[in-house]
Amino acid sequence: MSDPLIIVGSGMAGMGLARQVRARDARRAITLITADSGDEYSKPLLSTGFAKHLPPARLAMRSPLEVAEALSAVVRTHTRVEAIDPRERTLGIGAERLAYGDLVLATGAAPSVPFTWDAALHDRVFTINDLDDYRGFHAALSRLGPGARVAIVGAGLVGCEFANDLLAGGHRIALVAPEAAPLARLLPPALGRVLGGAMHDAGIDMRLGRTVASLQRDGEAVALTLDDGDTLPADLVLIATGLMPRTELADAAGLETSTAGIQTDRYLATSAPRIHALGDCACVAGLNAMYVQPLQASAKALAATLTGTPTPVAYGAWPVVVKTPLCPVVALPPRQSPARWRIEGDGSDFSAFAEDEAGRLLGFALTGGCVRRKVELARAAPPLLP
Ligand code: FAD
Repeated sequence: MSDPLIIVGSGMAGMGLARQVRARDARRAITLITADSGDEYSKPLLSTGFAKHLPPARLAMRSPLEVAEALSAVVRTHTRVEAIDPRERTLGIGAERLAYGDLVLATGAAPSVPFTWDAALHDRVFTINDLDDYRGFHAALSRLGPGARVAIVGAGLVGCEFANDLLAGGHRIALVAPEAAPLARLLPPALGRVLGGAMHDAGIDMRLGRTVASLQRDGEAVALTLDDGDTLPADLVLIATGLMPRTELADAAGLETSTAGIQTDRYLATSAPRIHALGDCACVAGLNAMYVQPLQASAKALAATLTGTPTPVAYGAWPVVVKTPLCPVVALPPRQSPARWRIEGDGSDFSAFAEDEAGRLLGFALTGGCVRRKVELARAAPPLLP
């Protein structure tokens, strides 16, 4: 039997890779190690669960035991890898040293929060980036019942999706963000305003252009003080201010990293021999896409590489579908700054085309009824990683 393959992280990247490797090699020893509960789940569904009143148990597709059995793999849960020794090819978990033949880092990304709050607010202030977080937030919300006041901080994909979903689930929502319009990294401002208008019209208290100055307990609730001095009362606060690739393990082991993630080439190889990385933690040939399709393509290519067929990964022109039924949004943000955004449409149905000087399509954004142009435009746009 060949040297064991150890995968750190059991999110969609780690789990997807294990599945692909097992499909190609029935005998390889595979160990999945995860700091969380190890349930298999689809992370994108976390921001659609409240409208459907889905308890966390309904989102867990397979338990770690079922995963281990289905993949003939060892799955170690609630286990944090603390160190890597690339020379000895070992991992450190407390005093334990675990030898690997190949190591894959699929450690994801962690919420990045630009302010702090009192630890005493732990039962009121949340981030949701995995199923365990969802369990905690869901339990707190269930204790409050329908009509709870939820303040969401951050108007990126995660903040907007949860705002729409929690509103649909019967709660009262406020959205606070420093940008003038939602989804600033995905949409030109004119289209962001279309989504913002739809959220406002649906009853979401939109506090755009505002940051949070402080969070304080106010009896059983939380008072958010904004930078204009206004105070917003909330039963729960959900912070969605962005994600940072988890690179600490790689950093400490001397691997090449940047704020965009663990640096890899097209083969998902890091700067250290026999160590690969994929998913939200990895910056592949200069790009960290942080979406499902790129990590699925990476898992497929890496599985081929690890089973004897070196395969570079390529990403297509894969648009992001934002799950805001109040105003559907699809976007393929351009990789380089466009010379202009050409915008057409009216009402809530807009198409925006990011173009270079010569009028070539670099990316696009669509709202409302225009989202049906997704496939046609994706065919015309350049791939993310050719
Ligand atoms: P993660 O799922 O974060 O997994 C990381 C794993 O690493 C975890 O198991 C963690 O426990 C483990 N880990 C980390 N450090 C250690 C350590 N030291 N030791 C052991 N284990 C460790 N993308 C889309 O394409 N479409 C969508 O609609 C969409 N919706 C989304 C909605 C939400 C609410 C969120 C948060 C994201 C969404 N995304 C969406 C993004 C997509 O879900 C992620 O890109 C993807 O799930 C990342 O998977 P991952 O396996 O790389 O990371």
